[in-house]
Amino acid sequence: MKIKIIYPSWPKLNRQTEFHLPPHGPVCFAAAIPDDVEISFYDENIQPVDFDEKADIVAFSVMLTCQIPRAWELADRFRKQGVPVIFGGIGTMLHSEETMLHADAVFLGEAEGRFEEVINDVRNNKLKKVYNYLNDFPDMNLIGPARRSILNRKLYNYRGVQMVDLVHASRGCRFNCFPCCTPFLGGRKFRARAIDAVVRELEQLDNNRLFFVDNSLAQDDEWEKELFRALIPLKKKWISHPIKDDDEILDLAAEAGCWYVYQAVFDTSDHIRRRVKRLKERGIGVEGTIILGMDDHDEDYIKRLVDFLLEIELDLAEFTILTPFPHTPIRADLEKQKRILHNDWLHYTGAEVVFQPAKMSVDALQKMFFYAWDTFYRDCSQNLQMAKLFLKVIEKEKADGTYKGSRLRRGRWSLKDK
Ligand code: SF4
Repeated sequence: MKIKIIYPSWPKLNRQTEFHLPPHGPVCFAAAIPDDVEISFYDENIQPVDFDEKADIVAFSVMLTCQIPRAWELADRFRKQGVPVIFGGIGTMLHSEETMLHADAVFLGEAEGRFEEVINDVRNNKLKKVYNYLNDFPDMNLIGPARRSILNRKLYNYRGVQMVDLVHASRGCRFNCFPCCTPFLGGRKFRARAIDAVVRELEQLDNNRLFFVDNSLAQDDEWEKELFRALIPLKKKWISHPIKDDDEILDLAAEAGCWYVYQAVFDTSDHIRRRVKRLKERGIGVEGTIILGMDDHDEDYIKRLVDFLLEIELDLAEFTILTPFPHTPIRADLEKQKRILHNDWLHYTGAEVVFQPAKMSVDALQKMFFYAWDTFYRDCSQNLQMAKLFLKVIEKEKADGTYKGSRLRRGRWSLKDK
């Protein structure tokens, strides 16, 4: 029995430096597949899909809305060849009904403890149209280490530097932010993995640099502290989504190897200014995630916001245009107000305007998106800013003796290794 897993390509954000992280969804999914099933894996972002290689079933692991049209296109081609196709991943959960038109089966929800049933159905030629485990979450103890052996790791590097490995210590989120579909996908309850299981997984990784892709680590103070304390002896260096803005937690995060965090910046308040300052004081870098096109945004507001980001010296800024993804609170609002322009998912990239802004024309918001990128990186390109952040991690590694040396090849970056 052989399963071919495909992670389809998607259009990259305009203005953003293109690099490819080893995907997380497919390796978690692969860990839920019984060991006696042979797996081949194609990340179409970095390698072409082999249509001739034989498989009993093709599984599409889809993360993004703008990835789904390509997944459908590939699926149609495999089905024409007579190969059954199943879809899973969060992109499938957001687009399940449309996806059924292109699939023999869709798997909705988290796969741990549930995929053996699917494999048996394939073996017995009894594949069901839908396996629906939405809001029916598996026991967190079933989540073992991701199966990263399916990746061709050599392909995941940027200018000779090995990319971070993606890991997770929890699922779900207790918040319900307006642009976010996580509550629909992972539920409103924070679900933590056992910390010793997380530590065991990290210990096995031959990579000192990680990205915790948990939705937000700021969910439970005691758990967050316990996690950071457990990370300290590993001496890994890591990136994450937000951590709690609390003295003890920030100190522990820094000690545990926090390299930089993603921080949403919605306004120019002192609250944001202080938050960024407190991270930077502890040697933690900050990449701002900034959504443009909210109802109080006009051109002047966006100009002031970009000036503010430069003033507070964010290390990196990622600008996106507000996008009403399915199953988000903002989509429900904009639908009611009839402000969604189209559902051409290929253009739901976060770099294109797909709704009618309140205080600007569609064209003006699109121009301000480019203005924001160009102005923020006017004096120091994104590439150079990334190189500076990279030098920070090298400094941290040199300080604790974990620096492995040869990963940054001289001359491949614009800044030289120190
Ligand atoms: S934006 Fe982050 S904190 Fe808010 S609901 Fe989504 S995952 Fe949770």
